[in-house]
Amino acid sequence: MADVKTAPTWHGIPRQDIPWYPTVDPETCIGCTLCYTTCGRSVYEMQDNKAEVVNPLNCMVGCSTCATVCPVQAISFPDRDLIWKLEREHKIFKVVRQEAKEKMAKQEAAKARAAAEDAIAKLIIKTRFEVAGEFGEKRFLIQMEELIKGRPFDFVNLCLRVPTVQGAMEKTPAFMSFDVTSTEQEDIQAFLPEVRDLIRRNGLTLVSENKL
Ligand code: SF4
Ligand code: SF4
Repeated sequence: MADVKTAPTWHGIPRQDIPWYPTVDPETCIGCTLCYTTCGRSVYEMQDNKAEVVNPLNCMVGCSTCATVCPVQAISFPDRDLIWKLEREHKIFKVVRQEAKEKMAKQEAAKARAAAEDAIAKLIIKTRFEVAGEFGEKRFLIQMEELIKGRPFDFVNLCLRVPTVQGAMEKTPAFMSFDVTSTEQEDIQAFLPEVRDLIRRNGLTLVSENKL
């Protein structure tokens, strides 16, 4: 479908019907560039060391910042009565109220989204443990199994690293890593102290614990 560009409006009034924009007196302008650098709407360009209004309808209706900051008062605007008259004539407040409603709804949605993202960020559904020590005759694995029996947790990606066969026979420390997860994609934070306790009860050393 073709991209249909709609003409800019100000609270329902076509922008081109609102003669609100700055006029620069070139005789007074000293070319300080303050209006040019202050305006964020590309209304001005500098030409021959003078400010020139090149995009008048980009000017924000009701704004007169550039005139306020001009050090030599070279910028003028129409009388503010013009805006008040337009507001009355076009009965803009019905439109304004609807716009306000939409803005508030957007703000509420953004707040709700931020709160949901915050809550998700605080959830822990997977944590990797790295443990060192002597794991014994499957003793630790059996206790892991008992710990999760009938519960919505699991130990996955188990990896046992034994430095050497000789070392294993001599019961030198081995290294194990595993991930603790929720089988229901729920927060596991309340379960993690039990895992730490299991490690401690088996005389193992918790090398690291990282949320994934
Ligand atoms: S702020 Fe005033 S003096 Fe400075 S460039 Fe703009 S019009 Fe000219
Ligand atoms: S009044 Fe505001 S928006 Fe308009 S030209 Fe000046 S600084 Fe830019």
